Amino acid sequence: KFSFARLTVLFGLPVLVSLKSAMRGYKSSMSCHTRALLISMGMNMAMACAMLFLASSMQSGAAHISASLNGAAVRRSLVSTPNFAARSAMRNNIVANAGVRKFFVGGNWKCNGNRESIKTLIEGLNQGAPVGSDVEVVCAPPAPYLDYTRQNLRKDFAVAGQDSWVSGQGAYTGEIAPEMLKDIGCEWVILGHSERRHLPEIKETDKTVAVKTKNALDNGLGVILCIGELLEEREAGKTIEVCERQMEAVAETIKDWSKVVVAYEPVWAIGTGKVATPEQAQEVHDAVRGWMAKNISPEVAASTRILYGGSVNPQNCDELATKPDIDGFLVGGASLKPDFLRIVDSYKQAVVQ
Ligand code: PEP
Repeated sequence: KFSFARLTVLFGLPVLVSLKSAMRGYKSSMSCHTRALLISMGMNMAMACAMLFLASSMQSGAAHISASLNGAAVRRSLVSTPNFAARSAMRNNIVANAGVRKFFVGGNWKCNGNRESIKTLIEGLNQGAPVGSDVEVVCAPPAPYLDYTRQNLRKDFAVAGQDSWVSGQGAYTGEIAPEMLKDIGCEWVILGHSERRHLPEIKETDKTVAVKTKNALDNGLGVILCIGELLEEREAGKTIEVCERQMEAVAETIKDWSKVVVAYEPVWAIGTGKVATPEQAQEVHDAVRGWMAKNISPEVAASTRILYGGSVNPQNCDELATKPDIDGFLVGGASLKPDFLRIVDSYKQAVVQ
């Protein structure tokens, strides 16, 4: 940005120099033609500076618009900005800009823990430094510990349910209505996790996931929507087709995507220690974003966060985070230890590298 002082120097200096030379010329009886020439040279230089200034403002205006439309492009430009101070300024600007994707890290505790281990985990997480506004962190404990977790977990971390029902309260034994999650202070729910889609005892369909998503959103929850292919689907070259099919069921059912975070979780990478390479993950994230741009809208595609999930740990998170379309992680096993905080920290690689 151009400060007032810089502007004064840019515009004022050429005028001053030319006036001073003209005055000197007046004293030394310089001809009036030469004086006029000097003054007009000064004016021309001032005009050239003004035009340069206008052009650079238009360029930064365009950059601002594209920033709000394409967080990935912004990240790429951040990565290529060599100066640390410039990068920090850019990052602050980006995070303050509502259109840009804030890094998001979710911890899915799955069906693990007891009162003692969950108390210890929460105490460990609470000891970490404040995370600030550059990253959003959400922990999803098992249902019996949701209320305890919300009451005791640090307040800069949100809490999520691991599932919610297709409708409100009623005769649905064992189910959790979204308004119950809201009632105890949860802000998010994980839906369509591969374990719920594929465990033979559950077998949730794309349609069920879509209806649950709509119901959760209608009740004011944010949704972490999981998608991803089985190993045999990847080997048959069907990865993108499966992800698109899962996305389509939801896109047919909801209109507002502003509170949806998509988590791409290749099933073969979940809990197996086999992490997708950053390139494999980036390829699918890019395809899913492309599908959203075409089938929902370019704005939704640009603003929706796509997380990667599948054996993310403190050793591999930083490299994954540098990929332009990876906007965060959904973490299973590694979220059960306080070094989950190390994964949260990988947001620094995503926006300032
Ligand atoms: C998950 O449960 O969503 C997950 C990604 O698990 P893990 O990190 O253990 O692979």
